[in-house]
Amino acid sequence: MTKRSYSPVPFSEVAVTGPFWRERLDVVLARTIPSQHARLAEAHILEALKLPQPPPPLYIPRNSHNFTMQVFWDSDVGKWIEAASYALAHRRDPDIEAKVDAIVDDLDRAQRPDGYLNSWYNGREPDKRWTNLRDNHELYNAGHLLEGAIAYFRATGRRRLLDVMERYVDHIAATFGTAPGQKRGYCGHQEIELALVKLYRLTGDKRRLDLASYFIDERGRQPHYFTGEALARGDDPADYWAKTYEYNQSHIPVREQTRMVGHAVRGMYMASAMADLAFERDDEALKRACEALWRDVTTAQMYVTGGLGPSETNEGFTEPYDLPNESAYAETCAAVALAFWAQRMLHLDLDGAYADVMELALYNGALSGLSREGSHYFYANPLESRGQHKRWAWHLCPCCTMNVSRLVASIAGYAISASESGVAFHLYGGFETTAEIGGVKVALSERSDYPWHGGVEIRVEPETPIAFDLKLRIPGWAHSATVAVNGAPVELVVERGYANIRRRWSRGDIVTLNLPMPPERLYAHPRVRMDIGRVALRRGPLIYCVEEADNPGAAVQSLTLPRAASLEAEWRADVFDGAMTLVGEGRRLEPADARGALYPPSQPRLKADKVTAIPYHLWANREPGSMQVWIGETVE
Ligand SMILES: [Zn+2]
Repeated sequence: MTKRSYSPVPFSEVAVTGPFWRERLDVVLARTIPSQHARLAEAHILEALKLPQPPPPLYIPRNSHNFTMQVFWDSDVGKWIEAASYALAHRRDPDIEAKVDAIVDDLDRAQRPDGYLNSWYNGREPDKRWTNLRDNHELYNAGHLLEGAIAYFRATGRRRLLDVMERYVDHIAATFGTAPGQKRGYCGHQEIELALVKLYRLTGDKRRLDLASYFIDERGRQPHYFTGEALARGDDPADYWAKTYEYNQSHIPVREQTRMVGHAVRGMYMASAMADLAFERDDEALKRACEALWRDVTTAQMYVTGGLGPSETNEGFTEPYDLPNESAYAETCAAVALAFWAQRMLHLDLDGAYADVMELALYNGALSGLSREGSHYFYANPLESRGQHKRWAWHLCPCCTMNVSRLVASIAGYAISASESGVAFHLYGGFETTAEIGGVKVALSERSDYPWHGGVEIRVEPETPIAFDLKLRIPGWAHSATVAVNGAPVELVVERGYANIRRRWSRGDIVTLNLPMPPERLYAHPRVRMDIGRVALRRGPLIYCVEEADNPGAAVQSLTLPRAASLEAEWRADVFDGAMTLVGEGRRLEPADARGALYPPSQPRLKADKVTAIPYHLWANREPGSMQVWIGETVE
């Protein structure tokens, strides 16, 4: 855990060439980013940036707690700029750039002389800024605008938005802290912390890192800031609508937290910032706190899809092993943020277990949030449906839309890491970069048809021959991987999820990695009561589901898989643009009693029926129908 360890090769330096992610990326470039801009305009979110002006009407009525989601509109703008910027790194687009620049004009004009920038407060309640950090997302909005500014600068070199945001960060740094006269506050929705670390990495300005550390370490201290703040507003802190500070993970100091509680996205952003700070500061105690939370989430609170947060009530966690399927909330943002956190844990410790979860969330719980055609979304990602779940074109709270698009558009940034001593591949699927190792430029080109096939080829092209480590992730699901260099098999020694090939590399060296992908059955821990007697299907990094469109006749809940039934992978060119399905000889449960008795004293009849499963991320892209991930398993 030092600066000598591996760091991600940035998205802007990695080309995506493989068919799977290239296709998703093209959809995001061509449809998602432009359509999201149109939706931001339709929803009046762009209009709200145009200050000074009489504030636009309240388009989102206040709820019974006097709260309107309109307060965090700025964050949607920030996330859209960020997603658009990642897309621009793949393909410059004057139309999109003009749209971003128009927003930057508005933000520049709206900024107050002291640096403060928030379209809700500036337009509507200028005298109330920083009076409700618990609920009103001011610092969260700042964080997302800052991430957008950083991404836009990295993609285009244009720094006007970055300058605006640096002025705002200066204002925030002057306002919050432990010095006399400063507010000892922090945001009710964590986010700005990880944005500040990104700013530090861009500019090297250590004050940004210090501010991020302050927000993390102040959180949850007594006397509790949100209690004092509520009293100052004239509110009774006991009337807090969320009932508990666990909701925003401020119930106890961050370093003392060992269970992930509350709102899932807040928790994931906080954990991501903790891992960032542990890395930057070589902070062993903070790293241990991250590890404790990681163990809790991944051993007791995570869906098999990488989804997080079963409950709609708090958009978050409940209790260990409480993972209902049909009512799963599993917000797209939470799976996206799990990928953020996993990537940061991976760089604290190059351990493939973190990359396994990153990949799980990417390919399953996060990707399911975006439709095939690129302009419809899921907010909640249930693991079972009776056909009532339909993707929506927009949402009053559109957080998930831009979260999934910024993730897909920046997928290249998750694939490869480099250090002074080598290169590590975490994801496969067609990624190319040129890394500098020991002062030598090394072109690396990974080709594969991953995740559909596990055959991977990596060409290594150093300018001059050089010895370095080539670390290849061997996913936790891959049981009989093989590696060869220039056709000669290499003994595979897997250490913490990576095979390390250290040799003197020369131009034209080719590494071939084979990751067999047999279909597998997964079983839940017996304390996950909802999945007892059920089985989930996995092939490679993909979790599968059965959907009615492929299994017509009755709701898929009547399908079962006999324990001994074999499953075959079958490429289906007619399923979307081609997809690997899993096919098995299953059973259909039929009533034993012809008169339809509700509780007959005999078992249902089992009728042979073919079962076809598709990757979970593809569900709900055809006629609405029933779906389930956890399929009943029968003895015969
Ligand atoms: Zn969301």
